[in-house]
Amino acid sequence: MEALPALRAALLAWYRAERRRLPWREFPSVYATVVSEFMLQQTQVDTMLPYFERWMALWPSFEALAQASPEAVLHTWQGLGYYSRARNLLKLAQAVVQLGAIPGDPQQWRQFPGVGAYTAAAIMSIALNFPIACVDGNIVRIATRLTGDHRCYKDSGSAARALDGFCQELLNRENPGDHNQALMELGATVCRKSKPLCGLCPLRPFCKASQSGTPELFPHFEPKRFTSIQLERFFCHKNDALLLFRHGLEARRLAGFYELPLVEALQTPKGALLYLGKRSISTQRFEEAIYAPKTIEAVADTTAEPLFWVPIEHLGALTLTGPHRRWIQALLRS
Ligand code: SF4
Repeated sequence: MEALPALRAALLAWYRAERRRLPWREFPSVYATVVSEFMLQQTQVDTMLPYFERWMALWPSFEALAQASPEAVLHTWQGLGYYSRARNLLKLAQAVVQLGAIPGDPQQWRQFPGVGAYTAAAIMSIALNFPIACVDGNIVRIATRLTGDHRCYKDSGSAARALDGFCQELLNRENPGDHNQALMELGATVCRKSKPLCGLCPLRPFCKASQSGTPELFPHFEPKRFTSIQLERFFCHKNDALLLFRHGLEARRLAGFYELPLVEALQTPKGALLYLGKRSISTQRFEEAIYAPKTIEAVADTTAEPLFWVPIEHLGALTLTGPHRRWIQALLRS
């Protein structure tokens, strides 16, 4: 691509003037960059900001986090979703403390759980000024629009791998951290998935998709295949206590989390349908029908671990997924 120096300069000038003032940018450190990058995977800035501030107040360093319990870490993360990120962040802090030094190479960072090519490049460039480009979904969108790339990609990951060479060429090697953050910021605020704000974009003079008049058509992806999953659960409420199932700490998914029990976890017939909960995780669409038991007395007599009767007043202290907390609150209100 021609005019790369002018493009880099326009991008950097825009970022320095227009960027949002975010705590990990204003008070940068390797630890703050790592925490923010883990929280930003799959999550918008506005959602994760209060979590980031709470987290940094509780555990302001790798050393402090390494001492935290898995239960406290999950509890602080609850509501943010994709909980393996919290467990991996704790393991990463423990590994850095054990290492006794901050790794100075992207390959070393990639040895840690939860750190892929993008996160390693983000940490190395933003916190350590190492010249490496980050490529995620936002940056794929900008790169395909800039170049008017008509190829059809399987998904964002395969597009990121295919576009890595172009993004490394695009990199401002004198200011790699700000360059990467500028592209992240541009993707989040200006070069949006639908209705990109080309009139406000510093890259407009260089952008083929904008010149085509239909930038929102880029990038091209194969259609996604969604799967539907139906689950049935019980809402057993008696004497101001609620029956919940607790996932074991070694469980692959939702370790340590409480949920409404599945119907098959109890030897009791279903009563009335109380609520139909819906949620999506990646390409899975869940529909969760929540029933009352036919007779609550039969349930009360037969429950044992991992099922627990939890006093309603203690629910706030438990670690629940966001959808389950919302559904339980709605059912308790009704
Ligand atoms: S000009 Fe429009 S399409 Fe091109 S990079 Fe900027 S916002 Fe995106």
